Amino acid sequence: MSTDRVIFSRPFRARRELANLEAVLASDHSHGDGQFTAAATAKLRAITGAPHALLTTSCTSALEMAGLLLELGPDDEVVVPSFAFTSTATSMALRGATCVFADIDPATGNLDPESVAAAVTERTKAVVVIHYGGVAADMDRLLDLANTHGFAIVEDNAHGLGGSWRGRRLGTIGTMGTLSFHDTKNVHCGEGGALLLTDEILMARAEIIREKGTDRARFLRGAVDKYSWQDIGSSYLPSELNAAVLDAQLDEFDAIQAERHRVWNSYAEALPDWAARNDVTLMRVPEDREHTAHLYYLRTPTEQRRDDLIAHLSARGISAPFHYVPLDSSPAGLKLGRTPTPCARSAEFSGTVVRLPLWPALRDDQVDRVVDAVTAFTV
Ligand SMILES: *Cc1c(COP(=O)(O)O)cnc(C)c1O
Repeated sequence: MSTDRVIFSRPFRARRELANLEAVLASDHSHGDGQFTAAATAKLRAITGAPHALLTTSCTSALEMAGLLLELGPDDEVVVPSFAFTSTATSMALRGATCVFADIDPATGNLDPESVAAAVTERTKAVVVIHYGGVAADMDRLLDLANTHGFAIVEDNAHGLGGSWRGRRLGTIGTMGTLSFHDTKNVHCGEGGALLLTDEILMARAEIIREKGTDRARFLRGAVDKYSWQDIGSSYLPSELNAAVLDAQLDEFDAIQAERHRVWNSYAEALPDWAARNDVTLMRVPEDREHTAHLYYLRTPTEQRRDDLIAHLSARGISAPFHYVPLDSSPAGLKLGRTPTPCARSAEFSGTVVRLPLWPALRDDQVDRVVDAVTAFTV
């Protein structure tokens, strides 16, 4: 049995990656919107059920597109979770909108709808929700609030490709959804992302925004005989080289997910007795949601013991990191945001969460090593 370091995450290697890259380079067409972009986009639509999908250079750029489509400006507010990745907020702040930070539900790490309700004002134009670890947020209450107050919901679904809430697929429940194909995500192409849309009118505008404000997409379909500057926009489309890798990964999506669930289920079976004895809270998935095995995390009773556990695992050759640092108290959050009520649960979650190694080729003996090391720790 190997005693190599058990790293936290390793990008998946798909069988067709190199052949696809070779085909792109040989075709003399490596700029965006070629055959691999079309093929990968079709696969994403099949996995998510989204009527429309656009590949982007990252999830961050898909979120920026969402901010443009929402026509956010300095008079607008966007509610974002305090416990989130920076892109979730900075994509909205980039348009001049004020980020209003809301607290999370510690049961899932997701946006707490009651905290959202308390943060909403007549200036609220959107709420950005993360499905943390690929476990859906509490969508029914958020959808109710969106109906009552007339704001849009953007799903930052960087973790949740293939996940669902009450049978509805993540990324297609709100007004728009985004995906990440960064190499730390379940499916990757180095750096990449996608924007998922249901609305035709938003889609027509999105494909222009994505292509430097031009109607090149319509031109490529033969709908217009030349393309011209139509709207503001930027360069949000990835190269065919990225799409070629993504397409190869999506070919093996089911196998990737099966492998990740194997590891996730091993932790979920092995750790409950230890957790109960040590006042540790394990990641839980409410029954009405299917998760994506993006993360397996646990929470210790205190920050000190969390740091001790990370050091204990590190000394045994296991990398187990903490996660997001709360945005509301970060330097940019203080400057660009507003926090109507302190996000105490986000701070506590952030201070006590540890993520265990989880990736498709992680062997069972390595998973056993992680379990043995974790259960040898007394909290
Ligand atoms: C990874 C991640 C992003 C950013 O994704 P990029 O593709 O690197 O831009 C945004 N939001 C969440 C929740 C993420 O985990």
